[in-house]
Amino acid sequence: MSKILVVEDNELNRDMLTRRLARKGFEAVVALDGRQGIAIARSERPDLILMDMSLPVLDGWEATRQLKSDSTTRHIPVIALTAHAMSGDRERALEAGCDDYDAKPIEFAGLVKKIEGLLKKETGEEEKGDRSQETGVSG
Ligand code: MN
Repeated sequence: MSKILVVEDNELNRDMLTRRLARKGFEAVVALDGRQGIAIARSERPDLILMDMSLPVLDGWEATRQLKSDSTTRHIPVIALTAHAMSGDRERALEAGCDDYDAKPIEFAGLVKKIEGLLKKETGEEEKGDRSQETGVSG
């Protein structure tokens, strides 16, 4: 089971994300600000991080920079979540070291595709077998 760290100060967003991730079969752990996000990334070693950018104590950009400059956490994919689809936000997030980006309000199915894509990239060739659960799924 893949473990996902949700760094989000907004309780409603945090609860929505963790509940829906759990329903998709992910193990979700949470942090409420950027500093806590770094601490929990180090202790829990999640497979991926969903990082709100607007956070107290330490914002998501700075927290991501620190995670990506630390050899124990730099391999963990980070998806930035920003409140505004402002032009430049995506570039700023990628510049800070984020691997992908999503704008709020979150479209959950699309976010899950990004999560699964990054997790697959992370495990690389080790992933094997056909995905029988996809059989029968149609538009
Ligand atoms: Mn926030």
